[in-house]
Amino acid sequence: MGSLNFDHPQENNSAHMSGPLDLVELRRQGHMMIDFITDYYQNIEKHPVLSQVQPGYLKQRLPESAPYNPEPIETILRDVQDHIVPGLTHWQSPNHFAYFPATISTAGFLGEMLTTCFNVVGFNWMASPAATELETIVMDWLGDMLKLPNSFLFSGTGGGVLHGSTHESVVCTMAAARDQILSRIGEENIGKLVVYGSDQTHSVIQKVSQIVGIPSKNFRAIETTISSSFTLSPETLRLTVCSDMKAGLVPFYLCATVGTTATTAVDPLGPLCDVAKDYGMWVHVDAAYAGSACICPEFRQYIDGIEGANSFSFNAQKWFFTALDCCCLWVKNPSALTKSMSTDLEVLRNKASESKRVVDFKDWQIALTRRFRAIKLWLVLRSYGVANLRNFLRSHVKMAKRFEGLVRTDERFEVVVPRNFALVCFRISPSAISKANLTPSDEKCVNEVNCKLLEAINGSGWVYMTHAVVGGMYVLRCAIGASLTEEKHVAMAWKVVQEHVDAILPLTMY
Ligand SMILES: *Cc1c(COP(=O)(O)O)cnc(C)c1O
Repeated sequence: MGSLNFDHPQENNSAHMSGPLDLVELRRQGHMMIDFITDYYQNIEKHPVLSQVQPGYLKQRLPESAPYNPEPIETILRDVQDHIVPGLTHWQSPNHFAYFPATISTAGFLGEMLTTCFNVVGFNWMASPAATELETIVMDWLGDMLKLPNSFLFSGTGGGVLHGSTHESVVCTMAAARDQILSRIGEENIGKLVVYGSDQTHSVIQKVSQIVGIPSKNFRAIETTISSSFTLSPETLRLTVCSDMKAGLVPFYLCATVGTTATTAVDPLGPLCDVAKDYGMWVHVDAAYAGSACICPEFRQYIDGIEGANSFSFNAQKWFFTALDCCCLWVKNPSALTKSMSTDLEVLRNKASESKRVVDFKDWQIALTRRFRAIKLWLVLRSYGVANLRNFLRSHVKMAKRFEGLVRTDERFEVVVPRNFALVCFRISPSAISKANLTPSDEKCVNEVNCKLLEAINGSGWVYMTHAVVGGMYVLRCAIGASLTEEKHVAMAWKVVQEHVDAILPLTMY
């Protein structure tokens, strides 16, 4: 350390007092905040899960302009309680079964505090060596847990990076794939490039296609059917690709999904990658929700065939106990990514980067600025260990199985597609509706009755579920995965469903 003594904190730190980072106040208010947070979680079930406020509610409650003079934290927290909390939909409620989960955990929480504590801007290695190096280590750990082939790991020939969202990951990989193909066929041919997914692929692919300059007519959402559980058929993919090539177009990017957003369908990676390989396409695997489950040996089969893909991403902020935001992306060929994403800014030039012995993550993403996300993932991995993480996920799957079983015991309902993970897709069956003589059971009426049921369930405030439309069917989705959810909450959720269906389709009408 030379002559500078950094080891002992300065005794007189009064210079820090009463500025924007008043350390006495940080300690005092920080403890208050932790109390507030713990109380919030403790009392979370006292609020309706789905916020019941009307649009514009907050403007009526808050002042017209920012305060000129400081306000005490006590007052601010009271306003959070009185005005903000009522306008929240409580994603951490054990009765939140909507969308996909956003599972927080103690470790994820504390990790996020450390991210904010250091608040480093780790664009390159120099700007915080620990941030970069921890990210490479954590991505290899996690890649190992998922049994990703070595070609995706830093210890092999690939590597992983933390982004803020799947959208960012897809922008980066699609831009890399675009530049790779255009360097071969010439930039003037960008209008010929075609992107493939299924009609179940997340809207991220279509949106990003537009962002990276692919003509919107060159996005293919290949139709799926209920007979194949809404998975993308490799045969249909091949036919579509062939017909595009005959028309003089250039296939270049395929998105396969492991755990689609509507029903958690799993596209067959191996056969799809085989087709893509025949035509030189980049394959991205979007496992935003279900990727985390693949750390369990019994679910790893869902990403069998991953070795044929070019990139793979999942959102740790969804079902992996990590606070927003944290999307894990692995690529087989980092140089394809950095070729498209790297910048050369004079003010960032340094010897470490020039030595090529370090990773500069700014060249793996869109922005220059980047958060120290790796530390929260590190806390999650270390605090729970692989064994517990697997068991947390398994407990959600087990509860989903239980809910699925309850649905199957009521003859008015049907489970629409086989459950793969912790999402159950169900609806009142068309036969039950026609049997009750409510309506002739054409699809539209069946959908309306199910939509009415979901609105009634959510209007109760007890639980919150959402819907999807697949193959023309309106289905209710019960997604289990909030960290506080226990068996009793799932049982209660089913009771709420039954109470409301009784009002629409009383069992006595049977
Ligand atoms: C949730 C989800 C996304 C979300 O993308 P973000 O950019 O992270 O918001 C993408 N793909 C799938 C399949 C999802 O379920």
